[in-house]
Amino acid sequence: MPQDPLGTRSPDVNPYSMAQAITAGLLFLSPVYSAADSALIIQVENDAHIPGGILSQAEVLTQQIFHDAGVQTRWTGPGIENACRSAMLGVRILSSSSTLREAPDALGVAVVSDRPENSWLADIFYGAIAQRVVTRSETVVLLANVIAHEVGHLLLGPNHSVGQLMRGEWVNRGLNSPAKLSPLRFDRGEARQLLDAASTRLNTCIPRDPNQKAP
Ligand SMILES: [Zn+2]
Repeated sequence: MPQDPLGTRSPDVNPYSMAQAITAGLLFLSPVYSAADSALIIQVENDAHIPGGILSQAEVLTQQIFHDAGVQTRWTGPGIENACRSAMLGVRILSSSSTLREAPDALGVAVVSDRPENSWLADIFYGAIAQRVVTRSETVVLLANVIAHEVGHLLLGPNHSVGQLMRGEWVNRGLNSPAKLSPLRFDRGEARQLLDAASTRLNTCIPRDPNQKAP
């Protein structure tokens, strides 16, 4: 397991079995989006019951972070299916702190597969985020950055960089962390990789397995 304060599971994790266990039943009998969508669909499950508009504001910020990197995203709640499994990513917001024994301070974890198209699920530990913020604004910004970081892992893989958003340690800077003051950015190289990964997922359109209820 690599050291990752934000949490990235090693490729030997079987994301499918875990993901199925988490989302099975949530997507059943849901409307279907067109396979021709030009945006990645990010399906957010708010298990933490985040109040008011905090989550929606964070989603807007996260969408803007990806937009600035050239990648279009569409954010939805549970209940949306897409004919292309590869074009959907899942974000589950948990009320707990880290559940990772090897990374107890993690704010999130992306389940990264050695097959990129199978990396589609990230967990966000809202309990840990809430412990590091005071104001609503800080909550929105930190939540947005954590979501963007973990979704970034789903598209870029498990490695960190020396840039802003995909650093491994910014979350551990406590009260002085820039991650709760303003949205962070992907660097240029990451933006190119993101665009390639998004294009591949959208263009190859790996169809859903009709026997699976998860994306
Ligand atoms: Zn990370």
